[in-house]
Amino acid sequence: MKIREKSVPGYERVLFGSDDAAGYRGIIAIHSTALGPAVGGTRYWSYKTEDDALTDVLRLARGMTYKNALAGLPFGGGKSIILRDGNAPDREQLFRAHGRMVNTLAGKYITAEDVGTSPADMEYILKETPYVGGLQDHAGDPSPHTARGVFRAMQAAARHKWGSDDLAGKTVAIQGCGHVGYFLAGELARVGAKLIVADVDAAKVKRVVDDHHATAVAPDEIYSAEADIFAPCALGGVLNDQTIPQLKAKLVAGAANNQLLEPRHGDLLQQGGVLYAPDYAANAGGVINGCCREMLGWDVPKTLAKTDAIYDTLLTIFAMADREKIPTYQAADRLAEERWRPIHAE
Ligand code: NAD
Repeated sequence: MKIREKSVPGYERVLFGSDDAAGYRGIIAIHSTALGPAVGGTRYWSYKTEDDALTDVLRLARGMTYKNALAGLPFGGGKSIILRDGNAPDREQLFRAHGRMVNTLAGKYITAEDVGTSPADMEYILKETPYVGGLQDHAGDPSPHTARGVFRAMQAAARHKWGSDDLAGKTVAIQGCGHVGYFLAGELARVGAKLIVADVDAAKVKRVVDDHHATAVAPDEIYSAEADIFAPCALGGVLNDQTIPQLKAKLVAGAANNQLLEPRHGDLLQQGGVLYAPDYAANAGGVINGCCREMLGWDVPKTLAKTDAIYDTLLTIFAMADREKIPTYQAADRLAEERWRPIHAE
C-alpha cells in the first residue's frame, strides 16, 4: 500500500492510497474531528478524473461535519472514495485494501456504507480495521430511521408554519417510493395524512398505493400536486428554477440529499413563502441510528429519542431563520458551525 498526503486548506487530512496487487485506488478526506472521530461512508464510484473524485470527497466530508454536528452526535466529518475503473475487481481484496488505509488513521476516521457499497463490503473492511460501521446484523437498515426523522422534521415545519404539528388531513406529495419514501408514507398514513406519490418504478408506486392508500400521479406531476407538503425522497437538485414555480405545497421536507440545485433556490423558496426543512437536518435519522446503536452502543429507546429530537433541531433552525431574517438553509449551516467551529479553533 502506497499512501501520499495532500495539504488541503480547511481539511485536517487528505490521503491518497494505492495498492496495485488489489487493484485499489482510494481517497480519504477528514474535514474535522472537532467533535469526535470523523464519521462518513465509503463511496465506490467511477469518476472521469482523480480531481473530480477529490472534489466529490471533499464536498462530502465537509457535509458530514455539518450533518453530524447538527444531529448532536459526538462525531466529526469525513468521507472516502474507492475509484471504480472498468475492471471487475476481487471485491474482498479491494475493500480489504481500503480497510488497511482506514486503519493507518488509527480511529481518526470511521467508515460505513455509502453509494456503491454494502454491509458485505464493510465485513471485508472489518478484517483489516475495527474502525468500520454499517456491518451485517448490527444497526440494520437505516431507512425507517431516516423516514422517522423526516416525519419529525415535517411535524416541526407544520408547527412553525401552521401552529400545530398535527398532520391529520394534510396532503403530502412524496417523490420517490423507495426505501425511505415507503416508510415515510407509513408514518404519515398512521397519523391520518393524505398521500400523493410518484416514482419512475411502477412496482414501488403500487406498494405504497396498496399498503398506505396513496393516490399515484405521473413523476413530472408531483411538483404541481395539490398538496400542503412536498417530500423529495428520490434525487438531489429537485428544487430548481423549473420546479419551484410549480409547487403548491407550502412546506418542503424530505430525505433526498442536496435538494436545492443551488443555494439561491433556498432563497427562492423563502421568497415564495415556502418553508424548507434543510435536507441534512431532516434526513439525519439513519446516521443517528448507525452512530448511536453501533458506535456508541446505545439502546433502541435512547436512539429513537435522539432521532425524534430532529423535531427540536428544526424548530431551532426555523426560529433562527426568522430572527436573523435568513433562509432556513443558511440557518442550518450557522447552527452546525456554532456547534463545531468554536472547538475547532482551540
Ligand atoms: P431508493 O433508491 O430506495 O429510493 C429512491 C426512489 O426514487 C426509487 O424508488 C427510484 O425509482 C425513485 N426515483 C428515481 N428517479 C425518480 C424520479 N425522477 N421521480 C420519482 N421517483 C424517482 O433510495 P432511498 O434509500 O429511499 O433514499 C432516497 C433519498 O434519500 C436518496 O436521495 C438518498 O440519498 C437519501 N437518503 C437516504 C437515506 C437512507 O437512510 N436510505 C439517508 C439519508 C438520505
